[in-house]
Amino acid sequence: MSSTRISLSPFIQSIKDTIDRHADEIAQLDQAIGDGDHLINLQRGIEALLKNIDEIEQMELAAALSKIGMTLMSTMGGASGSLFGSMFVTMGKQAKDKSVDFASMADIFQAGVGSVKARGKADIGEKTMLDTLIPAAASLQQSLVNHEALPVALEQMKTAAIEGMESTKEMLATKGRASFLGERARGHIDAGARTSQLMLCAIADVIIE
Ligand code: ADP
Ligand code: MG
Ligand code: MG
Repeated sequence: MSSTRISLSPFIQSIKDTIDRHADEIAQLDQAIGDGDHLINLQRGIEALLKNIDEIEQMELAAALSKIGMTLMSTMGGASGSLFGSMFVTMGKQAKDKSVDFASMADIFQAGVGSVKARGKADIGEKTMLDTLIPAAASLQQSLVNHEALPVALEQMKTAAIEGMESTKEMLATKGRASFLGERARGHIDAGARTSQLMLCAIADVIIE
């Protein structure tokens, strides 16, 4: 298969913008039911990606995704650092010898979400980032089955991510720090579910534009 290069810097920049725009809200979410560091962990990871952006831009997709994963793992810290890191490393493995079309991107993402499930030993309904990621990945797979056009599929994926993120509000947490809070976790959206949704919507919007 021919080399699969894709410029990732517009995506990373757009992710940075959306996280910065929602900084106060994100910080407050992790303060309410976590230890308050999710925003800083994520911003540290994004800064590290921007520092390596020239190197990442030179790489083929598979190598670039692995590099992103390893950079996040080594700089972010927190549960989210190892989870997002493992997600990108897995997507890098999955992207090997794949073309950059909708079907392979959906499969690459699906594999990444699978690695978050495995690493976090968690599934849907546990008030984590997986409540955003799993419905988003499932929506893309459904769109493939339905032969939907890419912009339609991406809008539906955004809706699935937003609904998934919102679903965490009334959940009890069984994984992560919020699991120690019991009923007190109810009424708060999970920080990682929110940032995952913001990032997925930013990625979709870059492709749609
Ligand atoms: P930490 O909890 O170590 O301070 P962060 O605050 O950066 O790390 O990230 C917390 C987020 O990580 C949570 O909001 C949740 O979405 C996600 N998370 C935590 N534990 C798990 C897990 N076991 N599986 C999936 N996601 C998890
Ligand atoms: Mg935290
Ligand atoms: Mg922490």
